[in-house]
Amino acid sequence: MNAIANPKPATTDTVLRVQGISKSFGDNHVLKDISFDMQKGEVVSLLGPSGCGKSTLLRCINWLEEPDAGHIRLNSERMGYAGSGAKMNDTQLSQMRSRIGMVFQHFALWPHMTVLENVMASPVHVQKRDRKEVENEARAVLKRVGLEDKMDMLPSRLSGGQKQRVGIARALAMKPEILLFDEPTSALDPMLVGEVLEVMRDLAADGATMVIVTHEMKFARQVSSRIIFMDSGHIIENRSPEDFFDHPQTDKAKTFLHSVQ
Ligand code: ADP
Ligand code: MG
Repeated sequence: MNAIANPKPATTDTVLRVQGISKSFGDNHVLKDISFDMQKGEVVSLLGPSGCGKSTLLRCINWLEEPDAGHIRLNSERMGYAGSGAKMNDTQLSQMRSRIGMVFQHFALWPHMTVLENVMASPVHVQKRDRKEVENEARAVLKRVGLEDKMDMLPSRLSGGQKQRVGIARALAMKPEILLFDEPTSALDPMLVGEVLEVMRDLAADGATMVIVTHEMKFARQVSSRIIFMDSGHIIENRSPEDFFDHPQTDKAKTFLHSVQ
């Protein structure tokens, strides 16, 4: 495994550094010494069979799960630990988490708030930013995801694809340094998948740093700068999309690709 762990020292362009992350639930050892770096503007698709630890890894990156061992560094700041090495308190953690945009499979929008209010909530309440400024930016972000005419609606009035675009707008409104997507289109009707992928493609082209867990292999190949393939809690391939899809090196990756294509 060491051959693919942190091949180079971190640079000023290293947005995310995942170092030696391990995580168990009881005696289920889910993540085993996971390490990788991401440079600014990179798009990594994180692939692997169901249950291999992809969601757990994303949740460790933003400290929704605390790893048992290892470090996460976001633009060289250590996640979960304050300067003295003491664990971060809840306020420090939520400030740090607000620098990481997370988009979930189930959109988790506030049902009683309008689309615009959903997008404004975290910048106003967590980041404590000026309400008027946040509103202007939230409107611009909603326009960017094609929802300028839905801003005043409640989420229940929207299609699944529109809800997920609100989910993305909500993440973007925090001006995150990195975006994590956990199967953002898996809960959608097939007809609605394309509009969400289109927004993500746009973000990637615009230079956003993104980690994407997805079953959309064609999309992963087109949009990714790198594929990280996990199996049983290990990274077993970390390569360009062309290399991964055309010449998978491990039997596990070959089996996986046969099962999804
Ligand atoms: P993936 O996203 O690749 O499908 P997950 O990260 O969701 O995989 O799950 C990896 C393993 O960790 C599974 O065996 C799952 O049952 C277990 N797991 C995930 N979250 C928890 C949790 N909160 N408590 C106990 N077990 C969990
Ligand atoms: Mg998952």
